[in-house]
Amino acid sequence: MALQRPQGTNDLLPSGSPTLKAFSSARGHEHVIGVARGVLERAGAQFMATPMFEEAEVVKRGVGGSTDIVRKEMFTVFYQGEHGGYVLRPEGTAPIVRAYIQNGLKQLPAPLKLWTTGAMFRAERNQQGRYRQFHQVDYEVLGSTDPLVDAEAIALMVRVVEALGLTGVGVKLGSIGDPEDRERYNAYLRELFTPERERLSGDSQDRLDRNPMRILDSKSDEDQRLIAGLHVQPMLAFLGEEARAHFEVVQGYLRAWGVPFEVDPSIVRGLDYYRRTAWELHHAHIGAKSALGGGGRYDGLAAQLGGPETPGIGWAFGVERLLIAMEQEGLVIPEPDGPALFLAAMDAENVPLVARVAMELRADAHVEFAYRAMKPGAAFKEADRKRARYAAVVGSNEAATGVLRVKALASGAQADVPLADLAAFLAQ
Ligand code: AMP
Repeated sequence: MALQRPQGTNDLLPSGSPTLKAFSSARGHEHVIGVARGVLERAGAQFMATPMFEEAEVVKRGVGGSTDIVRKEMFTVFYQGEHGGYVLRPEGTAPIVRAYIQNGLKQLPAPLKLWTTGAMFRAERNQQGRYRQFHQVDYEVLGSTDPLVDAEAIALMVRVVEALGLTGVGVKLGSIGDPEDRERYNAYLRELFTPERERLSGDSQDRLDRNPMRILDSKSDEDQRLIAGLHVQPMLAFLGEEARAHFEVVQGYLRAWGVPFEVDPSIVRGLDYYRRTAWELHHAHIGAKSALGGGGRYDGLAAQLGGPETPGIGWAFGVERLLIAMEQEGLVIPEPDGPALFLAAMDAENVPLVARVAMELRADAHVEFAYRAMKPGAAFKEADRKRARYAAVVGSNEAATGVLRVKALASGAQADVPLADLAAFLAQ
């Protein structure tokens, strides 16, 4: 049997592939990343990238030992039969902050705005919209605690989905407070859930010991029923004065700018490093549990990774999720332009000439040619199929005079163009 790709992964495919899906379209990925790049670079973000694997410690300390990601979703890297102490990165933030510390980026003017994109890896159960290798676009800002930076980050995330043409999207905004606030909240949750311990899923019993807030994020329906029955107070009720003031300012900016959002007291986010502002971007047709993206402030993360105290905030989109949402809204990824010129030889001996001319013209233009001799009718049909702007056929006559009859495919208009002038002709 022919070999298969690993479960839960996708090949990113060229247009027209028989098994093509919206989320596996290479052009779709390029489009989403290109649109995000435009929005983020116009806001002053610089591109950077980190390796696809990191020391396990970066992920354990960064993402947090009580998260599903660290407890059961990490891909460990073995080489030459040995456990290298590395894992494939499950997300982008902890690696960026690791790189920020290691490369002394603190010396750059703050706040430093960065963006990145690439594959992320989580050994999750295979489901629609949930893959073991998926792709994210990440935006991160380091070096500021200003709530204006939070509001700008959220507004940029919304700007990206708008620029993609998506409409059914909403921001669910929350705050998970400062560490002291979370301690008080966890103490409250511990008291509430301890008498119900036996009714919790095995995972959540574990969460009760390590980090009770995680229970609220549980994927188990049983847990969610119990949570609903207990009328659990939200984290927002436990915010300290400073975190509350910060949260109010963020909302004030968003309202002033007309960025639509709703406060959702249930936002807890699946990663341990968040602090204060946290949000998710949901799509009407993808389901409540499947966010398009999420983000939050992570002021404690740099110190957690052994670096100097550095506040930070960031977000990540799932590229596949965005493509699924676009498909559901009937949005079509624009086709790239076809060739400026399609050339074909009418007889075998002129094929090398056609190839040479095409390759020379490619210094400036998208030019394609036929590998075998073609009759003019077939050549123009092929040029149409490729959506070429111009087409020309080369026979012994054209080869001898060095002048091509170039046909504009849309209008049918023809012009005689010497080979030496073809580049200039295509440029105008
Ligand atoms: P997270 O880092 O968990 O906050 O995830 C950020 C975004 O990445 C999510 O909102 C999803 O859009 C996307 N994402 C996370 N996990 C997966 C996955 N297993 N497959 C596809 N997309 C994912």
